[in-house]
Order: sequence, then structure tokens, then C-alpha cells
Amino acid sequence: NQQILLDNRPQGEATVDNFKLVTTDTPALADGQVLVRHHYLSLDPYMRGRMNDSKSYAASQPLGEVMIGGTVGEVVESKHPKFQHGDMVVGMGGWQEYSVVDANQPGALRKVDTTHVPLSYYLGAVGMPGVTAWYGLVKIINPKAGETVVISAATGAVGSAFGALAKARGCRVVGIAGGPDKCQYAVDELGFDACIDYKQYKDMYFLAKALKEACPNGIDGYFENVGGMILDAVLLRMNAFGRIAVCGMIAGYDGQPLPLANPALILINRLKIEGFIVSEHMEVWPEALTELGTLVATGKLRPRETVAQCLASAPEAFMGLLKGRNFGKQLVKLI
Ligand code: NDP
Repeated sequence: NQQILLDNRPQGEATVDNFKLVTTDTPALADGQVLVRHHYLSLDPYMRGRMNDSKSYAASQPLGEVMIGGTVGEVVESKHPKFQHGDMVVGMGGWQEYSVVDANQPGALRKVDTTHVPLSYYLGAVGMPGVTAWYGLVKIINPKAGETVVISAATGAVGSAFGALAKARGCRVVGIAGGPDKCQYAVDELGFDACIDYKQYKDMYFLAKALKEACPNGIDGYFENVGGMILDAVLLRMNAFGRIAVCGMIAGYDGQPLPLANPALILINRLKIEGFIVSEHMEVWPEALTELGTLVATGKLRPRETVAQCLASAPEAFMGLLKGRNFGKQLVKLI
């Protein structure tokens, strides 16, 4: 069983040298345990925070242990009555080829149906990132039809699901993404009404001008994934009583400071700004996953994936995710 361990903590920017590849034997199963062979490993921005040992909302990843991560795969051996050889399951198996899971632990392993939804989508559109988009849109932004909503990192795992969910609610949906290809894809394939390439603009005022053109009626809801200049520009275009769901601040994950240029705009526009962590809202997952699964099964949501091949490529692919080199959900294919 090949595994990737967190070997040492980043000093500033994370690098591939923070990880170590090892090979171990898979232990024999005890009663209640299941052996899963992973088909895909999910790479997600939150993993960067786990690499630090500073205090955060999530526990830090202990050194010398298998990196945490979502996985989908196949049950290859089971000592649990509810799981059989061949069942397809989603879990938190980590950066390794196989995991031994205590299936009695609530939520440790969930069977999935791959008839209408590809297996890998359970790590993206019909998984944690999809529910994240759903929660921020439905529970925080709570838009009315006809309102304008904006999202940064628009073509990523969360952003692509957000686009479909917001269109289904009759919103004008505007994306912000890095590069002309991503922006064209957002409009042509994901159904965004417009998408702005933030890399074309050298400061927040130019970006705010582009936002004004793309959002002629102002912005009612903003789903924040990035922080920094993008947030400053959006704040300049928010309507009175706008709502901002703060989901991520990826521009600061390697320790960069993210000062707010003009916090008085929060008061002037009477904004509601709310941060959230999707795993603290398990009550919405069934409803959100049902809607997301239906969007995928009916062809209304078929987002792109960037797939790295084999476990050893995971650290490099993870660095790419933090630099925006991924185009859609970043996965590692193991078999
Ligand atoms: P993505 O698939 O969107 O990949 C990350 C993207 O972030 C990159 O492709 C890149 O897109 C963008 N990015 C990276 N660095 C920068 C930067 N310095 N400045 C601007 N953009 C950058 O990832 P996810 O969809 O999985 O996650 C999106 C966000 O949601 C992240 O911030 C993540 O932390 C957050 N999240 C939060 C959760 C919660 O519970 N609160 C749960 C899940 C995700 P581009 O090229 O377009 O810039």
C-alpha cells in the first residue's frame, strides 16, 4: 500500500518536499472494518491549512501520518454486514492506495450509486465542494430570482456547482476566474452570464470597472473563495443589503496577508457577511446532494476535472491547485 505522509511543515509556501512517499503492508481486518481500494483521491484547498500547526477551525495534520483527504473507491474486503465486496463508497481514506475503515463510525463510509453520476463526481459536484456551493448560495446569499450573484474561483469544484445552482434559481450569475480559457468555459459550458479574468486587471479599481459592466444592476450576493484584490473590487460594487458568503481565502493560504482596503463599505451598504464551514452543517447535506445529483443526472451540471495519474503525483498536483493550474475539480486517479 503506497501512502503519502506529511513529513515536515511548510515555512511560507508549501512545497512537494513537505511530503514523503512510503510503502506499507495493509493490516488484517478486525470485525466491523472494511478494506477500500481507492479509485480517486480528492485534492482540496483546505489541506493547505492542515499542513500548518497553527490554531484553526480544523485540527492540524500530525507529522508522519497519511495526509487527510476524501476518496472514492471500491470495497475489496469486508467484515461489516452492511458492506460487500464491489460496493462503491466515498470516505476520507487519505493519500494512499488502500484504507482500512471502521465502518461502524457514523459517516465514515457512504455507498454511492454510479448509474447516473460518475464515481469521481462524488468528490466534486455531488460531494463536499458541491454542498459547499449549495450552503453558501442557499443559506447565506439566499437570492431572489433576478438578483445578481458573483463568485470567485468560478470554474473550480465549488464554483462550477455554484453556477448551476444559481442559474436554477433565476439569478444573473457572474464568475471571476484566472485566464481567458477558464472564463470562456464558464460562459460556454457552465452557463455563467459573464466571467471576468481578474488577471487582466492590475488593481481593484480596474477590476471593479469590469464588474460594473458585467453587473449593470450591482451585486446582491457574493460567494468569496479568494480574498485580497478580488474582495476589495466586489465590495465597491455591492448593493445595499447585499450578502457575502465567505467560503475561502485561497490568496492567503500560504501566509500572505489579506488586508481589506475599504471596510467602511460594509457599513455604508449594510452588508451581511458570514463565514461558514460546510462540515459543520451536516443537516443540509441530504437536500443539497439530492439537488446536485439531479443536476448532474439530467446533464445540467457536467463540470470539468483535472486528473493527475498515480499517487506519487499528488503533491505536485496539490501545488498546482494552490497556484490555479487546475481547471475544474482536481483529482488523483489511482487505478
Ligand atoms: P478550486 O477547484 O476552485 O481550485 C482553487 C482555485 O483557486 C484555483 O484553480 C484558482 O482559480 C484559484 N486560486 C488559487 N490561488 C489563487 C490566488 N492567489 N488568487 C486568486 N485565485 C486563486 O478549489 P475548490 O473549488 O475546491 O475550493 C474553492 C474555495 O472554496 C477555496 O477557497 C476553498 O478553501 C474553499 N472551500 C471552503 C469550504 C468551507 O467549508 N468553507 C469547503 C470547500 C472549499 P483561478 O485560476 O480561477 O484563479
